[in-house]
Amino acid sequence: MKLAEKIDRIKKEKKAIILAHNYQRPEIQDIADYIGDSIELSRKAMEEKEAEIIVFAAVDFMAESAAILNPKKKVLLPSLGARCPMAQMLTPAEIKRYKKRYPNVPTVLYVNTLASSKAQCDICCTSANAVEVVKSFKSDIILFGPDRNLADYISEITQKKLITIPEWGFCPTHVLFQPEDVIFLKKQYPDAKVMVHPECSSEMRKVADFVGSTSKMCNYAKRTNAKTIIVGTEKGLLHRLKKENPNKKFILAYDDAVCPNMKLITLEKVYASLKNEQHVINIPISIARKARKSLEKMFELNN
Ligand code: SF4
Repeated sequence: MKLAEKIDRIKKEKKAIILAHNYQRPEIQDIADYIGDSIELSRKAMEEKEAEIIVFAAVDFMAESAAILNPKKKVLLPSLGARCPMAQMLTPAEIKRYKKRYPNVPTVLYVNTLASSKAQCDICCTSANAVEVVKSFKSDIILFGPDRNLADYISEITQKKLITIPEWGFCPTHVLFQPEDVIFLKKQYPDAKVMVHPECSSEMRKVADFVGSTSKMCNYAKRTNAKTIIVGTEKGLLHRLKKENPNKKFILAYDDAVCPNMKLITLEKVYASLKNEQHVINIPISIARKARKSLEKMFELNN
């Protein structure tokens, strides 16, 4: 029996579901019950009434959010090494330090943070709703962490001053994209449209036709008339884009834009995770309660 079939069988026996992030390996996306960005997946997990176990094929902070939002379900992360380096760049101590320095300034944190940091903020945001979340505050100054590029993008649109915590938080994968590569590709494909993630640099945003989260990129790819699209985000998204748009051509703007942390999840690890019910995500109640409030406020704003 193939490993994918074994996973399917054990998943049904244990009333489990597999949620996979858009950046997962193609074979993981193919066995998943749902594919999406971190918050789409957490919401899916909340809607799933039958499931008792959630295997979260992604990185640490995403599995943490799923566990926070689904306290009665067992949330499993197949590889403990699957940690997002950007999320590790922000510590609760650093947030406290900035809050002390700017006492009446609201704190907005990107969901790409650990639960202990989420517990320190007023509200969370995703790359899909960050502009809306920042606009919801009257204050013209916002403390924002950890991604500097996303902060600059929000600031451009809202005209608000975003003070970043830490000063230079970044995604090691998205900073690999360079506008020169896009300009080179555009010479070969002059009719191509360019879409990039807001974690890319401002120089990349300047050469883009569209800037948005992975879910927004998927929508843009469907509605644009362009037959060729140059993509500025992690390689894994191309699998979904190609499946959803079989008649369009997708070209990664930088061929090695791979998040090694996302790729730590393999079929073998998903199988072991289900079989041994490992690795269970446990968040201390006091932290989970506060972090949940920050996530729920974001959902309320989106409804
Ligand atoms: S792509 Fe970047 S932000 Fe996303 S998990 Fe990897 S390192 Fe973190």
